[in-house]
Amino acid sequence: MFVDSHCHLDKLKSTEEHGIAKVLADARAAQIEHMLCIGVALDDFAQMQKIVGKHGDVSFSCGVHPLYVAKHGFSESELASLCARSDVVAVGETGLDYFYDKEHIATQRESFARHIEIANEVNKPLIIHTRDARADTIDMLREGHAEKCRGVMHCFTESLDMAEKALDLGFYISISGIVTFASAEELRDVVKHVPLERLLIETDSPWLAPVPHRGKENQPAFVTHVAECVAKLKGVSIEEVAEVTRDNFYSLFNIKRN
Ligand SMILES: [Zn+2]
Ligand SMILES: [Zn+2]
Repeated sequence: MFVDSHCHLDKLKSTEEHGIAKVLADARAAQIEHMLCIGVALDDFAQMQKIVGKHGDVSFSCGVHPLYVAKHGFSESELASLCARSDVVAVGETGLDYFYDKEHIATQRESFARHIEIANEVNKPLIIHTRDARADTIDMLREGHAEKCRGVMHCFTESLDMAEKALDLGFYISISGIVTFASAEELRDVVKHVPLERLLIETDSPWLAPVPHRGKENQPAFVTHVAECVAKLKGVSIEEVAEVTRDNFYSLFNIKRN
């Protein structure tokens, strides 16, 4: 049984066309036992929960994505109160993305700092989106004492050096379908070096479908291909990757297994 530590169930075309029941049924048929559905903006948080509904095998996070913050903005008190809810297990996704948006760096940083504060206040882990902002991301996590709440570097595509700095802060590294892409040699090297006990796996669906599904819409059921690739790189069985990443997930997000 697998866990998809990062997906956007409300953003799938499949959800729109066939309803959430089909996505969840396909995931369960592929032995996905838990999914973490990630919030990207406060103004669509309620809608996300409504579309996805209440299920024992789906948890939610709440936060404002670095690429959404300039457009959507947010109220700090609203973020804090949503993150304190018992059905929210993590704060994010938040972080810094200088690859897609260099214009709003100050806004991204301000938002990221608030998310770190709130994660420590509510004592829930952070879900970090980081791209081309290695030094700033690590510096801000250190300044904000994110080693207290800890968290995960989601859809990791940065260097081994950055991964090691994140591990030092008690963070986990989450691997997406990118690891199966031919061009992802550096990421495969990161996977070889990071202990399995500190790895998570994710789809980031609807984006980034792994080989052999590239070009299709990604969905939680496809996380098995990420596990398979990680297993090969680690020289262990896919069952071991499934079991250890699942235990890592439940422990970081403080979720009781059904
Ligand atoms: Zn992201
Ligand atoms: Zn995401």
